[in-house]
Amino acid sequence: MTNEILLGDEAVALGAVHAGISAAYSYPGTPASEILEYLIRASEGGRKFTAVWSVNEKTAYEEALGVSFAGKRSMVSFKHVGLNVAADPFMNSAITGANGGLVVVSADDPGMHSSQNEQDSRFYAQFAQVFCFEPSDHQEAYDMTRQAFDISEELGFPVMVRMVTRLAHSRSSVATREARAQNGLRYGDPKDWTLLPANARRRFKLLLEKQADMVKLSESLPFNKLELNPKDRSLGVIASGIAYNYLRESLAGGGPAPSVLKIASYPLPESMIARLFEHVDTALVIEEGYPLIERELKGFFGIPGKALKGKLTGELPLTGELSPDIVRKALGLAPLPVRDAGDVKLANRPPQLCAGCPHADTVKALNKALEGRSGSNVFSDIGCYTLSALPPYSAIQTCVCMGASISMARGGSDAGVRPSVAVIGDSTFAHSGMTPLLSAAAADADMTVMIFDNATTAMTGGQPSYGTGENLLKILEGLGVKKEHIRTIEPLPKNLEKNVRIIKEELDHKGLSVIVAVRECVQETRKKRRS
Ligand code: SF4
Repeated sequence: MTNEILLGDEAVALGAVHAGISAAYSYPGTPASEILEYLIRASEGGRKFTAVWSVNEKTAYEEALGVSFAGKRSMVSFKHVGLNVAADPFMNSAITGANGGLVVVSADDPGMHSSQNEQDSRFYAQFAQVFCFEPSDHQEAYDMTRQAFDISEELGFPVMVRMVTRLAHSRSSVATREARAQNGLRYGDPKDWTLLPANARRRFKLLLEKQADMVKLSESLPFNKLELNPKDRSLGVIASGIAYNYLRESLAGGGPAPSVLKIASYPLPESMIARLFEHVDTALVIEEGYPLIERELKGFFGIPGKALKGKLTGELPLTGELSPDIVRKALGLAPLPVRDAGDVKLANRPPQLCAGCPHADTVKALNKALEGRSGSNVFSDIGCYTLSALPPYSAIQTCVCMGASISMARGGSDAGVRPSVAVIGDSTFAHSGMTPLLSAAAADADMTVMIFDNATTAMTGGQPSYGTGENLLKILEGLGVKKEHIRTIEPLPKNLEKNVRIIKEELDHKGLSVIVAVRECVQETRKKRRS
């Protein structure tokens, strides 16, 4: 056994390595990116497994599923909204089941530090009816990920590990164990893996039958713990995942010693809950994310003489991230003492494009080209260029989800918006912009798409992009965009007037045009110079 200081994401990654994975796939997104980055480094450092960035989360999931079909262990990881993109194979993999261990890591972002919503992946696990782990600390992130592969093979279904930003991006010491050997090839049964209705019905029945085994498993795992205080029957606390860590920190600061049920896996350990229910009059549920446990337990405690408290009853906030102080407040305790930092004035640093960023030159040209055109709308996508929503650019009016810029611009065009403009980066275009462009090209929709080709996935740290350079231009032609309306510009201050002219020409074109702004992300240029 050795000890390593690891990020929560790295603990997950190392747990997978030591579980004997043969492959790992991901699409970058905060707070999950560090998982595959660690695995890529590990695979380059002599460990024999595949670790690649996929073109999007759905592709990543299906690649991992293919490995599982072949009997080997695989992991797929992404941020929570990535699971929306991968929802189709995820839900259906709960029917095919897993042959080699298949673990899906979904990293939630409560508080929306770097995301457009706060969705809680535990609901997805419950929706698909698959087993789910929720680590409370780095050691559990390692141990649970490692064990998740064994459980996946034992149950014959995928297993989810739910992470959250605070755990993913903090460091702690982790005791690691010896790596297990990889599985050999062992094909799945085609009758299980071909989801024709007759096969799917049989498999779904099996999934439902496995639910009781999953509950038993939750009861038996040491990660779930019930500590009853025989001297105090007034309050019991049910805390899951990182919230259990906040509870421990809160109670270490002094105060009452309630009975505590730690929840670390789903489906819930029912008999532990029943024992707590017998023991206390009131239970307070502390969970990061949506009130999943609280909703499930309403029936348990919602009877005379038994009270259930938590997010739904206002003791804890329904939005944002929890903290030890929030937990202490819910327990009726004063905040923990803090050290006075004196009169330190921190500068307000709103997020902004880097100095010299090519996107700045592109949006300046776009803004200038749109001057005097009332009613125009710029539908944006997700990337560094989304920051052009802020002053001094104020260049975009929407940002919803990956790929939505092109489809929304098509909808805007259909609704009569003129000009209707979509802005999207090269990586996001490859992720989910190609299909809406295919549809817009087939209709020759009256809209202009601007692809900001900076040759990388910049916002998440410079991962590879698959739709860049010459390849991107060929894709555009292949999707049916007319060659004469595929234009390129080089976003540099010296080219401003020329670029404005080109953009104006395409805005005036009655039909679909695509303008590709080609200049590498300056951070990538710097990295290359340094290396
Ligand atoms: S990382 Fe690259 S693309 Fe993103 S803002 Fe900085 S220079 Fe621009």
